[in-house]
Amino acid sequence: MTVSVAEENYTSTRNACKLCSPLGACLVLRGIEGCIPLIHGSQGCSTYIRRYGISHFREPLDIASSNFVESTAIFGGRENLFTALDNVTRSYKPEAIGITSTCLAETIGEDVPMYLRQYLASREKGGRDTKGLAPVLFYASTPSYKGTHMDGFHEAILAAVSALAGFGERVPVKTDRINLVSNFVSAEDLRELHSILQSFGVPYTLLPDYSESLDGGTWETYQKLPEGGTKIADIGRMGEAAGTVYLGIPPGKKDAGKWLEENCGVPLFRRELPIGIENNDAFFSSLSEISGKPVPDLWERQRSRLIDAYIDGHKYVNGKRAVIYGEEDFVAALAAFLDEIGVVPVIAATGASNPGFKAHIQGALKNTRRDVEILDDADFVTILAHARELAPDFILGHSKGLYLSRELGIPLIRCGFPVHDRIGGQRILHLGYRGTLNLFDLICNSLMEAKQNQFDKGYTYL
Ligand code: SF4
Repeated sequence: MTVSVAEENYTSTRNACKLCSPLGACLVLRGIEGCIPLIHGSQGCSTYIRRYGISHFREPLDIASSNFVESTAIFGGRENLFTALDNVTRSYKPEAIGITSTCLAETIGEDVPMYLRQYLASREKGGRDTKGLAPVLFYASTPSYKGTHMDGFHEAILAAVSALAGFGERVPVKTDRINLVSNFVSAEDLRELHSILQSFGVPYTLLPDYSESLDGGTWETYQKLPEGGTKIADIGRMGEAAGTVYLGIPPGKKDAGKWLEENCGVPLFRRELPIGIENNDAFFSSLSEISGKPVPDLWERQRSRLIDAYIDGHKYVNGKRAVIYGEEDFVAALAAFLDEIGVVPVIAATGASNPGFKAHIQGALKNTRRDVEILDDADFVTILAHARELAPDFILGHSKGLYLSRELGIPLIRCGFPVHDRIGGQRILHLGYRGTLNLFDLICNSLMEAKQNQFDKGYTYL
């Protein structure tokens, strides 16, 4: 095989297939009720993240900044952080402030945990002008040069849980409560997860939950902190749950699921994103095991409907070849789903540098293992170079794949994050049997449309 561009010795990333680490953290923080993200670093970082989030969710997304300037980079950002905390507390009156770091703050070695201890001591002594308000503060270290938005996402969940759930004490398991730690999914996916959890009839904590805060209705007056999000009190109860279902595999050694298991004795059920029948079956059976309740009939009927759709659409998808890319967990779930419906994911790529990615994808594939190019630390130039040799039929991924679609002349089926060039990215349903059905229909219809467009006369039966 000739892969000319990819084999050239580039040291730079060209057209990155990953996003910035604090971006992932900010999404988590906007998924906690009454919480405001505060980026410790330059204005530009928070502006970029706001811009990115707004163009996908089409909602306001306030992200505060400690506003580094040249002198801060030299003398440190402690005073900027203190001022930012005071200002944010006064103007937003939040229940919590989640602080996340930028590349610059990490590069100059800012000791944010120490700053926060000093700030809290000063606040306790009445030394801050915060009008008696005392939001909870917690911190996620998110150096973007060491990871992607997914590292920031998982780190922020860990920061919130370790600050708010059980306060590190061992709490005996004594309820039928379910913890569900979602992944970087759409607002519609979160609403689907709520429906699934509610159907089991037990209390639960879904974290994070930006289903309303980043996809709400209209307002009479501007809300600085939109309604919705995981309640802080519910995060506080995560230590007393009967089990945690953690969707996806965090790249770091620590994560909130492990933290809850080690500190509060909450059993951990690590599951792939529920896309495809097999992943959904595993997900639903974990919920059933934790809650002690059978899977409600409603989902059995949806499962059956999905299998029926697989049968109906099989002739359109079987043997087709796809390029998939994005977050490691998302790509692994898509790979398993495509494998299940007879599509060969000829390229499974992520921008994350993750030595475990290859094994993760191979583990997801039952039928097409030998035909798949698995690329980690990949950019879109590399993906394109490989794709040119592999004759794919379609691309499944976020809007940044438009460039591949144009070059290869094949359809891009938009899913994941970000979807900047269409309306409704936040309402794409990927998860559950219904989400899988949605993706299946999208793929079938895209392939049928591409075929239809090949003929002058067009056929209405395909
Ligand atoms: S400098 Fe770092 S933290 Fe800031 S936007 Fe760029 S990648 Fe993100």
